[in-house]
Amino acid sequence: MTDTSSTLRIVWIYPDLLSTYGDQGNVLILRRRAELRGIRTETLHVHSSDPVPVEGDVYLVGGGEDRPQILAAERLRADGGLKRAADRGAAVFAVCAGYQIIGESYGDDADNPLPGVGILDVRSSRGATRAVGEIVADVVPELGVGRITGFENHQGRTAIGPSARPLSTTVKGIGNDDATEGAYQGQVLGTYLHGPALPRNPALADLLLRWRVGEIAPLQPSWGEKLHEERLAAAL
Ligand code: GLN
Repeated sequence: MTDTSSTLRIVWIYPDLLSTYGDQGNVLILRRRAELRGIRTETLHVHSSDPVPVEGDVYLVGGGEDRPQILAAERLRADGGLKRAADRGAAVFAVCAGYQIIGESYGDDADNPLPGVGILDVRSSRGATRAVGEIVADVVPELGVGRITGFENHQGRTAIGPSARPLSTTVKGIGNDDATEGAYQGQVLGTYLHGPALPRNPALADLLLRWRVGEIAPLQPSWGEKLHEERLAAAL
């Protein structure tokens, strides 16, 4: 990666293991919304055999099935790069399996607890049922994101510890399982929203950009906002 302070470095973690649900859409929309503001970007696809660079700005971690999830968590823990990046203030956006493995622990397919990367104070374990379907949630007001929508498909349920905060309260769907959805801690954010989440919720992409570059200019509403409105209307 070229290291210029004016380039936003987007790091896509393990597309070979954690990209079950069109997660690349999150990478594309983040890049697009940065470039529309005149922010130069550089995107790095980090496969599970590669070291995770520490000097990225935004790290995207996608969803995955149980076994790839375990493999990804083991490799991320052994590598240490994602934790070092989060410790130095990088933004992290993690979806579903990604959300669970950046936490303190998560359950394997027999619900044995396994250690996570430990950058978000959440613990996940298997629920009695699978949570599948459209989800709608209101993000906590201080993040300025509003109502979000997505598709959830997970067995795990997530309890939030004292250092993290719920991302949102659920209007429809299961999410964490206590009427909240997702969690954040500093600039590390996890969510059960697939979809992919950022194309369906441009305001979430803009939150990640604001975390890294400060205030950003508003954009003319385009297909992203239309998709958001359409999915919201369809879900409720
Ligand atoms: N394997 C995890 C679960 O079922 C995550 C699934 C996912 O990423 N959709 O809870």
